[in-house]
This record gives sequence, structure tokens and C-alpha cells, in this order.
Amino acid sequence: MKLDRLLTNCHLIDETGAVSYDQSLGIKAGKLIRLNGGESMEATERLDLQGAYVSPSFVNLHAHGAMNIFKGIAEDVSIQRWFDEILWPYESKMEAADAKTGSLLAMAEMLDHGITCYAEHYFFEDVILEAAEETGIRIEMAPTLFGSDPNFEARLKATTRLAEERSTERIRFAYGPHSPYTVSKPQLESVLEEAKKSGLSIHLHVSETKEQVEASVAQHGCTPFAYLADLGFFSQRVLVGHGLWVEEDDLDRLGVQTYFAACPKTYGKLAMGTGGLWELSDRLNLSFGTDGAASSATLDVVEQARIFGLFGKQGAADAEQFSLPWLWVRLMKGHEYFGFSTGRLADGYEADLIVWNLDLPNTLPVYDPLAAILYSSDARNIQHLLIQGEFVKQDGVLCTIPKDLSKSVRKSVEGILERGTGNAKVHFAE
Ligand SMILES: [Zn+2]
Repeated sequence: MKLDRLLTNCHLIDETGAVSYDQSLGIKAGKLIRLNGGESMEATERLDLQGAYVSPSFVNLHAHGAMNIFKGIAEDVSIQRWFDEILWPYESKMEAADAKTGSLLAMAEMLDHGITCYAEHYFFEDVILEAAEETGIRIEMAPTLFGSDPNFEARLKATTRLAEERSTERIRFAYGPHSPYTVSKPQLESVLEEAKKSGLSIHLHVSETKEQVEASVAQHGCTPFAYLADLGFFSQRVLVGHGLWVEEDDLDRLGVQTYFAACPKTYGKLAMGTGGLWELSDRLNLSFGTDGAASSATLDVVEQARIFGLFGKQGAADAEQFSLPWLWVRLMKGHEYFGFSTGRLADGYEADLIVWNLDLPNTLPVYDPLAAILYSSDARNIQHLLIQGEFVKQDGVLCTIPKDLSKSVRKSVEGILERGTGNAKVHFAE
């Protein structure tokens, strides 16, 4: 057999954080072939990595990509002012072209940071799918459903139809009811029924703030998790955006296929408290998301893991908790949610890979590659990124992002600021 690509002279970091030194890795038809040690094989292209580290790529479990055009618009304000006074007057004026531009910007940022797959929760799914096809990123698209939408049922069924017609090796779908407090009980029941029929997962926000939990207890007599559990939600695959205020009593009600996307940078910036997420994290299927850039300012899951670890150590006053391997395993756990056969450097797995350049001032010297990556690295250390064995970032340059993206960003942002009713100001370079 002749390989498509042979990566030689590299050190492999697996999904547990263990390192195998001086290895070779083969790629054939987009899939991995593990070779014994530095063993060689015939290949169309040979790439001598000169001692670089190679790891599985990253995934982002919760994002609102289009919101990248609002990065930095509202800082140092309460969560109420952030949304009601600053964001919403503009977000409500977003049009499809703006959503596409924002999504392309988000995808560029994610690919730059080694993210090859993400869980999207937003409107304008048609243009988001176009952007995903153009950039080659993997996506699980959950079109957002608000209870106030008079076309709720039609939109729900449309998601099922999209999944039937547009799913590919890189594109999947989920149902995206916004949350148990913005979608009514009969509507949530419809979502569940639809999910049972199609087998698609449900991606929604749950127990983001303490106030939401208190309101649920006042209205329904139980926490948002208990409320969803009583409806039968956790019999299905569910992706929980945040779950920051999850409680011990909620745990027994969750399913084996309940995943949590922790986005701690948002919690820090909006002063949302620490909830139960850290204390209960060992008992949850927890990985990391970035949320939208309007609240987290970056789409970098390594940074989210870093912040989770640091908040965790500080909160527990215990430097031995939330260790580097603990964080790494959870970063990799996100792959399991998507089920794309990614996240492991094993035979037959998809060749979604990062080739690291840790030979740079911010990461040198490398005593421990996990410390270099999780505590010191950023996008510049990601030299190459491959999806199904093809380069999407090569020698630090993004290969699939439109060259005139910054021009479209300027056009979209200036248009939205003109249509919106807030006081935001923006500056672009000449
Ligand atoms: Zn969210």
C-alpha cells in the first residue's frame, strides 16, 4: 500500500496526554495509520517534522460563531446591560450576509487555534453551512429555536429535513431549543419527540446563572435540570451549554450521553459566580466551549481549559487538582460527543491533526509538552492543521479563508452600527 502522506520524525501526544517519541504517522484516504516507531512506508508525500509534537486537533462544544462581529462591543458591564442595552440593539439588526461574515471570521479564528469541529447554536443556518463548506471545518449545526417564534414547529421539522438532506462527512445537525426558560413545555416536548424519531442530539442552554435556577424553582418547583429530566430529555444525547449552576441532586438525573460545554472565560467576564461546575466536574462528561465572542472575546478552547484549571485550583486552594492531564483528557473528550471518529491517534481514525511548533519564545524550553500547550501556547504555535489529512492551516497560514475577509467584516459592522440603536463605536485600520 502507498500512503497519501507520511509524517516522520515526530513525537505523538495521545488523547490521554501520553507522549510517544520518535514516531511516524501515515495518512491514507483521510484516515490515520499508526506505524511502529519510526518505521517508514512508501508515500506520495513525505513530511519530515524535525522533532515536532503532533496531537489530535481540538473541538469546540458551544459557540455562536456569527457573534464574532460583536467581539469587544460590551466590556466591564453587568450581564443585563451587556445583553439588553449594548448587544441586542445591534444583534437584532443582523442580516444573513452579516451572519455569514461573522461565521467565516469565527471559523478562521477556530482553525487558527487548532479547532477542526464545533457545535454551532445560532440562526441563519443556511449561510453558516455555506461558510462551513467553504472553510472545510466540521460542524454540528443546531438552528436556534425560541419559544416566541410563531413558526417554532415548522422550524423544528426543518432541522430534521436539513439533517436528512445536508449531512455529510463533516456536517451534522442537532435541535437547538434556546433554553428551558425561553421555550414552553409543549414545545420542549415536541423537540424531544422529534429527537427520539431522528436520533439527532439536543443542544441547549441550561442553568447558566443562579437567577435562572431560582426562577425555575419558583415556577416549576425544581431546578432546570430536574425539569428537563422529568420531561425525559436525558434519555437522548444532550449537549448542555454551560450548566454552570448544576447541583449535586441534578447528577442522578443526567444520562450517559449528557455532555457539558464549560466556557469559563464568559463566567469570569460577566461575573457569573462559580456554581457547582468545578466541584462536580469529575462526575460530568465535561469538555470546553468558547460561547460567542461577544462574551468570551476569543474562540480558543485551550484558553478556556487553562482558565477552567486556574479558577479550579484557586477556588479549591489546591494546586494538585485540575492537573494538566486532567485538562487535556477533557479537551479530547469533546470529540466523543460529536462521534466523527476523531480525537485519537489510532488506526482508522480521521486524520484531524495539529502539528505543533513549540520552538518559539512563548513556549521554549519544553520540559513538558502539555505544560507548553496548556499554559503557554497560542495560535502561533499551531504550525499545521489537517482535516481528513488535508491542510487547512499550513506553515502558519490559513488555507481556506477568503483573502478579503477583513473588508467584509468592516462592511457588515458598519452596516449594523448604522441600523442599530446603541452607542457603539468602531475603528478600522486604513
Ligand atoms: Zn450560548
